Amino acid sequence: MRFGYSETCLEHDTGERHPETADRLRAIKQGLTRKHGVEYVDADPVDVDRVAAVHDADYVEEVREFCAAGGGNWDPDTVAVEETWDAALTSAGLAVWAAEAALAGEQGRKTPFSLGRPPGHHATIDDAMGFCFFNNAAVAAQAALDDEAVDRVAIVDWDVHHGNGTQDVFEDRGDVFYASIHEQGLYPGTGEAEETGSGEGEGTICNVPLPAGTDIGGYLYAIDEVLEPALARFDPDLLIVSAGFDAHRHDPISRMRVSTDGFGHLTIALREIAEDAGAPIAFVLEGGYGLDTLSEGVAMVHETFDGHTPVEPEIDPQEGVEEIITDLREYHDLG
Ligand code: ZN
Repeated sequence: MRFGYSETCLEHDTGERHPETADRLRAIKQGLTRKHGVEYVDADPVDVDRVAAVHDADYVEEVREFCAAGGGNWDPDTVAVEETWDAALTSAGLAVWAAEAALAGEQGRKTPFSLGRPPGHHATIDDAMGFCFFNNAAVAAQAALDDEAVDRVAIVDWDVHHGNGTQDVFEDRGDVFYASIHEQGLYPGTGEAEETGSGEGEGTICNVPLPAGTDIGGYLYAIDEVLEPALARFDPDLLIVSAGFDAHRHDPISRMRVSTDGFGHLTIALREIAEDAGAPIAFVLEGGYGLDTLSEGVAMVHETFDGHTPVEPEIDPQEGVEEIITDLREYHDLG
């Protein structure tokens, strides 16, 4: 794969004892050191206009002033320093690079994956939260839509948390389909299956809240039964994956049970959906807080594009999964 990576993103310092640190990016790079076919691409920070295309302009200015004044705690979890401003614009810039590279035909072994931080999917239209300032995947989706050849973008979010920010940005729009598979009841407590979008965006939000303990079988069942048909109907021109690795069974902050191989299966499933739609695919890093499991997860996505096929899992959804999927098929008129 081609990884978007910038030293600027290391400068966003969240202090000691914070799970979202620069060591995450260092661990990922370390994990990719001896892998075949890894390339790195740097990207420029985005212009403020790109960010303001999905966020409230006053909020963007507020973040700029907060960082310029030295930063601090935006909320108990979300911390900034002066350098956070450049890091956040660069993290968004890397995501835009990934979307544009995918649209330019960089696929297969050249599939783009942006390794930015701060992460993005909790950042709402007008607020920072959950370690996120600017919604990188949303900025990238909007940048793609500003390209004449792109009418519809899908974002699939496999981070263990619901991407409330991405939903907030796009829930009333018909040109972006947002699907999130997340652990029920986990931070930020949003992402109910009943929420399917509103107005022009009716049917374009697809929340799949799965019970704690779900393994890759449950995830693949949800993808087969809900995401695959819903995305085939939406027919995106680009698929962006909000790729968090905190659903790993050894991640310290979730109770899901996805193995490292599981991230290979998720990659294969989404790559097939993208291929069926004739859409290129781009990956954007979100969370993942065990340094080993994060780096193994990213390396697994890479190896999947490098030709590795993980062992076929059993698709035997755990208790509680089938009921949610049955409801979701009804909410989304999937028969
Ligand atoms: Zn997360």
